[in-house]
Amino acid sequence: MSEHRVRVRVEESVSLEARTQAIGRELLARAKQAHAHLSSLNRWTTQLLRWCLADPHVKSQVLRFLDCLPSLTTPRAVVRHLREYFPADGWRLPAALRLGVSLTRPGLLTAPAVSFMVHQLVEQVAQQFIAGARAEDAVSVMQRLASRGVRVSFDVLGEQVTSEAEADRYARQYVELISRLGAAGHVSVKPSALTAQFDPLSVRESAARALGRLRLIAQRAVEVGAAVTLDMEQVEYRELTLELAKQLLQEPGLGERVRLGVVVQAYVSDAEQAVTDLLDWLAQHRRRLAVRLVKGAYWDYEVAHALQMGWAVPVHRRKWQTDRTFERLTERLLASSSMVRPEIASHNLRSIAHAMAVAEELKLPKDTVEFQLLYGMGDAIQAAVASLGWPVRVYAPVGELIPGMAYLVRRILENTANESFLLQDFLETASADTLMAPPGPNGGSHG
Ligand SMILES: Cc1cc2nc3c(=O)[nH]c(=O)nc-3n(C[C@H](O)[C@H](O)[C@H](O)COP(=O)(O)OP(=O)(O)OC[C@H]3O[C@@H](n4cnc5c(N)ncnc54)[C@H](O)[C@@H]3O)c2cc1C
Repeated sequence: MSEHRVRVRVEESVSLEARTQAIGRELLARAKQAHAHLSSLNRWTTQLLRWCLADPHVKSQVLRFLDCLPSLTTPRAVVRHLREYFPADGWRLPAALRLGVSLTRPGLLTAPAVSFMVHQLVEQVAQQFIAGARAEDAVSVMQRLASRGVRVSFDVLGEQVTSEAEADRYARQYVELISRLGAAGHVSVKPSALTAQFDPLSVRESAARALGRLRLIAQRAVEVGAAVTLDMEQVEYRELTLELAKQLLQEPGLGERVRLGVVVQAYVSDAEQAVTDLLDWLAQHRRRLAVRLVKGAYWDYEVAHALQMGWAVPVHRRKWQTDRTFERLTERLLASSSMVRPEIASHNLRSIAHAMAVAEELKLPKDTVEFQLLYGMGDAIQAAVASLGWPVRVYAPVGELIPGMAYLVRRILENTANESFLLQDFLETASADTLMAPPGPNGGSHG
């Protein structure tokens, strides 16, 4: 690269960084203001998260217990597992539960009463992150958020189905939901719930099996003018998920009309190459896609699974690496907005401010980009982004709690990860310098 071009790049990045800092501080000030009147985490959730944080063993026991709770069909089984996972002398249970478990011993409190308490507590936490159980709830959530200028993408809870009948039910729920939501409808679909045999070892066949159900969902979405995004799950499903999207985009009569989106996870080590390949494919096939850029929700699983199998870990090991890749990919996607609709999905003020600064530098109209957040997380950040005039969408799961347990577990993991942005009580305590530090080995990796 010539010296002149290098100098221009450096000057550009200096002004981009300065603009990122300025926008970030403005966002932070607005988020602090909004924080004063918007609740973030409810009381039970805060207590559960603090409790999980106190000790990594407690955290893993809570997650294991939540994981098996859906399969505990009798109150006795709930109490037995509670005692087993949280022996009275070894674990500091929240006060109400400690009392409950100890009272079952001398028979003062019955197993159904304790089981009821456990379910109540879990439901309180779940309500923080899950918008409702039924399709009707989705409509009222959509209306409530629309009054604040916020759009929604709905996810019907459920993933990795175990039978084709279950996958049929999942697809039908989406078709019904889209019919209710109409043109403002936007849904996010988990590919592994579209067939019981979503197998990375047979990409074409698995994609073809899932395509039948995705086609039904997409057709209904086209009829009413709604949009569909394919969520991204574990790395082993990435190729398969992208293949599914490509097959749908090539469907005669549907491919050119469907408003489809895919997800890119910045924590995957070769995410930048994956985006290059995707952009090449879109250019070659003259198709347009929404691309939601996320950091990735399965970090603990990816690391543990690869280590257990003796494989190379497919994700970055340091948070700053993920944050830096997220910024690079933000720049790539925004610069490719003729081919993709960029959706920046993060609660991290630094990541959000950087994307706004890039959009400004590229002179993109604000409605070219959409900022996305998860339901129940970061309401103050949501309000701050919307107040600057940028489009905001919230990802809101609907459905029964039991199939949603895996989703709930991931939200809890995220909220208690050491370096999580949301954990940092940042609106009250962290300094703007710390929050806005550029990602790097010696800089910001906090979030
Ligand atoms: C609207 C929306 C839709 C989403 N859809 C998906 C989806 O389809 N698939 C999906 O996987 N996720 C999805 N996510 C979740 C997302 O991937 C993140 O888990 C979540 O948003 C937290 O990241 P953050 O930028 O908000 O916060 P931050 O606190 O800035 O980042 C946390 C993230 O950093 C990464 N990280 C943490 N520790 C390390 C480490 N030691 N090394 C490397 N990286 C690390 C992880 O990805 C972690 O989630 C979605 C998020 C949103 C807002």
